[in-house]
Amino acid sequence: LLSVTGLRKSYGTVEVLKGIDFEVAAGEKIALIGPSGSGKSTCLRCLNFLEKPTAGEIRLDDEQIGMAAGRPMNDRQLAPQRAEMGMVFQLFNLWPHLSVTENVAIAARKVRGLSAKEARELALEMLAKVHMTHRADASPLELSGGQQQRVAIARALAQKPKLMLFDEPTSALDPELVHEVLKVMEELAAEGRTMLIVTHEIAFARDIADRVMFLDGGVIAEQGAARELILAPRERRTQAFLKQIR
Ligand code: ATP
Ligand code: MG
Repeated sequence: LLSVTGLRKSYGTVEVLKGIDFEVAAGEKIALIGPSGSGKSTCLRCLNFLEKPTAGEIRLDDEQIGMAAGRPMNDRQLAPQRAEMGMVFQLFNLWPHLSVTENVAIAARKVRGLSAKEARELALEMLAKVHMTHRADASPLELSGGQQQRVAIARALAQKPKLMLFDEPTSALDPELVHEVLKVMEELAAEGRTMLIVTHEIAFARDIADRVMFLDGGVIAEQGAARELILAPRERRTQAFLKQIR
């Protein structure tokens, strides 16, 4: 589904990503882990050109992201490609002046060009998936952080993306709210969705992901089957990282 080849990203003279290669098959769940500052967010943001890679190629199905006929795309050209990757951030950024349903519907209208009625129906369907139907008419300001993040997940789903990208979706939440968001993600995984998840929730990665990639020093230092990598890492730096976050 997704292939990443030779991905590099520098900020000024600092090279954060030094050549990343990986593939994601349809239906696969991949956890991306690594120390703070190792470039996990940068890597996700490069996939949909929220950050422009310094070098490398991203392909979704057979389409190259961000380039058309050898030239960089502008934001308008990028929009339909970005819509194929539903992104969920640490901070949910819902519109405070819109209702929960409108927050979700607006994604479907803008990105998929649905009518107001179709968008609303799709929004309600996605809100049901994240167990937020009962708050459909609320303002985001009335919701807990966990509820807001579930709405943000529904918003991303309403774009009907080919894959979902999660960047530490639970790390801004109070500990007692983490579970409800992980549960929704687990249900999406069980539906067979393709998911690339940056997370510090190692137990979650172990149980949900098919594969784990450990990013360190600008490269994927180790990758493998989730349980194997987390329970018995081969590389010394993976061992040190896992020991320190447990
Ligand atoms: P964390 O676990 O803390 O979220 P991360 O692995 O997501 O970390 P990134 O946010 O991708 O790491 O950052 C990687 C490196 O790139 C860091 O050293 C960061 O300071 C730097 N960096 C990120 N964004 C920018 C930017 N817009 N301009 C300059 N440097 C940046
Ligand atoms: Mg990050």
